[in-house]
Amino acid sequence: MSQQNITIESVITEVTKKNRGADLGLLRRAYEFAERAHKGQKRASGDPYITHPVHTAYTLSKMNLDDATIAAALLHDVVDDTPVTIEEVEKEFGKEIAFLVSGVTKLGKIKYRGIERHVENLRKMFFAMAEDIRVVLIKLADRLHNMETLNYVPEEKQKRIALETIEIYAPLAMRLGIGSLRAKLDDLAFRYAYPEEYQWVVKNVKEKIQEREGYLKKVEPILKKELEKEGIPIIDINYRAKHYWSLYQKLLKRNMDFSQIHDLIAMRIIVESIQDCYAVLGAIHKNWKPLPGLIKDYIALPKPNGYKSIHTTVFCIDGRITEFQIRTRDMHEEAEYGIAAHWAYTEGGKPDTGVKATDPRFAWVGQLREWQEKMSDTTSDEFLESLRIDFFKDRIFVLTPKGDVIDLPEDATPIDFAYQIHSDIGNQATAARINGKIASLDSPLKNGDVIEILIQKNKKPSEKWVGFVKTNNARTKIKNSLKKERVLLGQRGTRSARLTITARDRVGLLSDVSKVISDAGLNIAHIASSDIRTKGFAELDVAIQVKDRSALLKLVTRLKNVTGVEEIEHKIQG
Ligand code: MN
Repeated sequence: MSQQNITIESVITEVTKKNRGADLGLLRRAYEFAERAHKGQKRASGDPYITHPVHTAYTLSKMNLDDATIAAALLHDVVDDTPVTIEEVEKEFGKEIAFLVSGVTKLGKIKYRGIERHVENLRKMFFAMAEDIRVVLIKLADRLHNMETLNYVPEEKQKRIALETIEIYAPLAMRLGIGSLRAKLDDLAFRYAYPEEYQWVVKNVKEKIQEREGYLKKVEPILKKELEKEGIPIIDINYRAKHYWSLYQKLLKRNMDFSQIHDLIAMRIIVESIQDCYAVLGAIHKNWKPLPGLIKDYIALPKPNGYKSIHTTVFCIDGRITEFQIRTRDMHEEAEYGIAAHWAYTEGGKPDTGVKATDPRFAWVGQLREWQEKMSDTTSDEFLESLRIDFFKDRIFVLTPKGDVIDLPEDATPIDFAYQIHSDIGNQATAARINGKIASLDSPLKNGDVIEILIQKNKKPSEKWVGFVKTNNARTKIKNSLKKERVLLGQRGTRSARLTITARDRVGLLSDVSKVISDAGLNIAHIASSDIRTKGFAELDVAIQVKDRSALLKLVTRLKNVTGVEEIEHKIQG
């Protein structure tokens, strides 16, 4: 599986091809640094560990990424897997590369806690990291190589990693429009995540693909001739089979009926300009009748992830249903490399600064909103997902020591974190450890911090906390706890007393008695009256809280002055 012959020289060659101004010295230094750091370490495959960062860097060099990203890819595992610290990386390679490496390292801290929870944790984290999308691109390239070498990993881990790839990494690649990466990730994961289904698809599709390829070979020269007749210059015509996972997804929707899959292999026509795209569409429709409803103009209306092309499905030669995809060279690059295809090098060959969430290249978030307005019936998950990036802009993501992700507003403190986990943890917090170091409870947290809260049983929250917490959740819980505490304090040192008052019954007796008690500043826990055998008399049963015996006697004296009261029995309990 693994491309054994990929070396740092392959990376250098690829980078030189794409960007003549690249800082090759930097890449070599990063390589040597990583090689030294990983010396003696082996991959599960038995290969020297350095082959992994090199493959990761190679994938990114193919995607035309800038020097800093490729250098960071070479260094991406040194902090996690070797004694090298992030400070050393920064000292050696500067802030930008250290930032990228630490981003990848932070993503690696999320521990597996069951697929659903894990997926949610990863998803949150990825959005947090979208602050600099290059971190995500390195992580995707890292995952690609891990998938390519997955057969060396113990079986029980294979399935988990494969599912994670299908649930998180491949959709992320799709969201970033990196079709080439997405298809590879999906298909590599498919065989491990759903082995039987994978075998079924492979077995059933192989012949069909060969047969279709034979057919398209017949179509190609005819199409070429037609396009020449129209005077449309062609850059390339090719056909590539739909990737297995997406084919399988489509089959599931179509009752596993292959005859309903028209794009098992689509013919791709690449031309110079948008005008030529429409000219090709015209030429195809002139010769072959299109199937109604299957002309998709993603040039006029790009997909949410930015995908542009024209698709049409026609009754082609011999009446066979065939899909054509028409696009320009730029559109093709973009479909293969997505957001990475936008990497523009300035005149001096220097890369643009990193892509930030506010970058105009993230315009697809806005595009998506527009698209959503136009197609009000598509409330797709995809759309909501993209909005999350915006939503998450002022949020940070921190981790529990167990690797769960907690999202908080910017500048939130360990106290906010503690209350987010549980009110008891918040109430009893005494100190916090941020990334292993003791920190004050009001320190502002940063993205990716690992927070541990130290508690002390029966400790109460401090009034001061209300002044610095950032979440309403923490504020409310602190106040509630303090209020409860005051009530308890008010009651502390009191004793319950019981009074039995015999009185001549009359209207207003009960309220007069209650008034005397509350005027004395005492709380009534219970009061009830009952008739007694002696006619015209009532007995009041009263439970109250008093400080001491003398307070009780004072009350008894006052009660004796109430009209009708004849006799009062009293006793203090406990
Ligand atoms: Mn790695």
